[in-house]
Amino acid sequence: MENQIDTQMQRRKGRRLVLFPLPFQGHINPMLLLATILHSKGFSITIIHTNFNSLNPSHYPNFTFHSIPEGLLESEASSSDLVALIKLLNIKCTDPFRDCMDKLLSDASEEPISCLISDSLFYFTQAVAENLKLPRVVLRTGGLSSFVVFAAFPLLRERGYLPIHDSQLEELVAELPPLKVKDLPVISSVDSDSYYEIVAGMVNGSKASSGIIWNSFEELEQSELNTLRQEFPIPIFPIGPFHKYHLTSSSSSLLAQDQSSISWLDKQAPKSVIYASFGSLAALSEAQFLEIAWGLANSNQPFLWVVRPGLVRGSEWLEPLPSGFLETLNGRAHIIKWAPQLEVLAHPAVGAFWTHNGWNSTLESICEGVPMICMPFFADQKVNAKYVSQIWKVGLQLENGLDRLEIERYIKRLMVEKEGEELRDRISKLKEKAKFCLEQGGSSLQNLDSLVSHISKLDS
Ligand code: UDP
Repeated sequence: MENQIDTQMQRRKGRRLVLFPLPFQGHINPMLLLATILHSKGFSITIIHTNFNSLNPSHYPNFTFHSIPEGLLESEASSSDLVALIKLLNIKCTDPFRDCMDKLLSDASEEPISCLISDSLFYFTQAVAENLKLPRVVLRTGGLSSFVVFAAFPLLRERGYLPIHDSQLEELVAELPPLKVKDLPVISSVDSDSYYEIVAGMVNGSKASSGIIWNSFEELEQSELNTLRQEFPIPIFPIGPFHKYHLTSSSSSLLAQDQSSISWLDKQAPKSVIYASFGSLAALSEAQFLEIAWGLANSNQPFLWVVRPGLVRGSEWLEPLPSGFLETLNGRAHIIKWAPQLEVLAHPAVGAFWTHNGWNSTLESICEGVPMICMPFFADQKVNAKYVSQIWKVGLQLENGLDRLEIERYIKRLMVEKEGEELRDRISKLKEKAKFCLEQGGSSLQNLDSLVSHISKLDS
């Protein structure tokens, strides 16, 4: 048996995978974790990355890195219009990516390449791969639930749900219960046509690929998995949660993680702290930022708050806070620029996560059994928040805008009242399921085996 496994590994050792992450934190993290998982299965790994939000190869000595000059102007790279940026990356990366792939494919000194694994939002890579006659497998870094909604966009447009009209926000989307129109994964304030274009690129490019990998697990999104398996004629592999495989992996953080958060947490009572963080892209007005600050302060709970530079529009960092704000809290608050989030969520002092419900954050919170206060900003975050609060029932969604009194009330409901205990019980059960799917015979490990054998057959 052992010999058989060795031979299999040996065979795969002669195979290389090329991975291409979308250059944003919530996409880089899962792609690098996936690389680590597939490397542990015997594949050699090459990562292609853009100069924009460039990766640090020294963190991954086992992988080969190639950087491509996507040629973004400084003004484009710093734009807050995410949709325009993703669209532009799909245009500007095409030539340099194809040149890089050409070189890799013709390099006889390297192992043959089995397939390309690229982010679903790098939809241009489907045509490049087809031209090169190289199979492409997609990594979708969001959940299955929101993908089902993205795949329904043509229907939602036909039936008049999209574009969204303010008068319809509270209407139920009959085709996708319990979602209401306000939960649909749109980005307000951007050009809708461009947004529909990238959603269509993601969905159609995924459908045309040789398979889709998901950082999720069957027990969490079973009915959405069934829907996608019916609608998509290609193999689908939910093999998450990626960060819970027992593998040593380096940090792929673009910002330095402030370790002082852990020593501060060490001094707090068990399950007493609210951890508040809104991910790498969301932005707030100064007025919203102040409501959050006062809501947290008035809750009387200790809190660890990530205020990323750039979180508050028009401010460098904490300038909008009234002077002396932190001092009056007598050590009850710790504010940092970026956290070691996985360690924070796993810390026994953390009792709740006030999150924007990016998929990684949502999954990370589930895996540690930490109930959530949900405050989605845009796109798939809105669907994730609805699933957390209404389907899995492991969090409370702030529904009525940002108001300090409302925030204080929600924190009490979660941290002090019986309702909070119920949410905590339910998320502990989900945590167990997440753990189980990575144990022997668990669904994600079985799906990983299927993925490995699928990839191994792609180039034969
Ligand atoms: N993250 C982190 N430190 C922080 C905040 C976030 O390391 O202070 C990580 C977090 O663990 C997650 C990723 O950044 O893996 C954010 O991804 P997510 O999908 O939650 O949100 P996005 O940033 O894409 O909106």
